[in-house]
Amino acid sequence: MITRRGLMLVLSSPSGAGKTSIARKLMESEYDISMSISVTTRSPRPGEVHGLDYFFISLTEFQVMVSRNDLLEHAKVFGNYYGTPRKAVEATLESGKDILFDIDWQGVQQLEANTTADLVSIFILPPSSSELEGRLLTRAQDSKAVVTQRMANAVNELSHYQKYEYVIINDDIDVSVNNIHMILSAERLKRERSVGLKEFVKILSEEKELSQTV
Ligand code: 5GP
Repeated sequence: MITRRGLMLVLSSPSGAGKTSIARKLMESEYDISMSISVTTRSPRPGEVHGLDYFFISLTEFQVMVSRNDLLEHAKVFGNYYGTPRKAVEATLESGKDILFDIDWQGVQQLEANTTADLVSIFILPPSSSELEGRLLTRAQDSKAVVTQRMANAVNELSHYQKYEYVIINDDIDVSVNNIHMILSAERLKRERSVGLKEFVKILSEEKELSQTV
């Protein structure tokens, strides 16, 4: 039987490019993928649910996780700490399922360096700087100081697009989600991700030889 290894799909973008909405829509329409839920030391925004959006933990708890090597990657973003719990990711990949990460470029670099699993990276760009600014302002869940800091950081974050395999300009969310479906479909079909392909072809060849000798 031919199966395939699970892959790690990473979405990164400057804040306000629409990445979180894309990730949500993708999860609604893709069945073979689950979302990695990060731990963070930042406070929950209104409407955010512990265990669904993030695991909201204290700095001490975060430090303990780091010291125990419980995090696959971790980074400081906008003054708060974020990290990917290792166990959940490993269990998902072992079961042959794909996993989606909404993490920043620092995390992607660490995943590239620390995991042997297959990584597919996508960078999402806003369609224009005014759109980016507008989205950050209408978000309004963060304090003014945080919004200003995020805008300044967005320019710096943009520069990291070159390290990603795919870049999507998020003009229309449905088009963006559809593009990611297509990327996923193609990546899942890659020869090197197939397990059992060699044996399958061997069986095909043996059957052919047999039928020729009969
Ligand atoms: P937010 O606070 O707006 O939810 O996220 C801020 C930034 O942190 C986003 O760019 C998001 O992708 C990133 N982020 C969220 N979780 C993680 C994580 O586990 N690791 C890393 N490296 N970045 C993360």
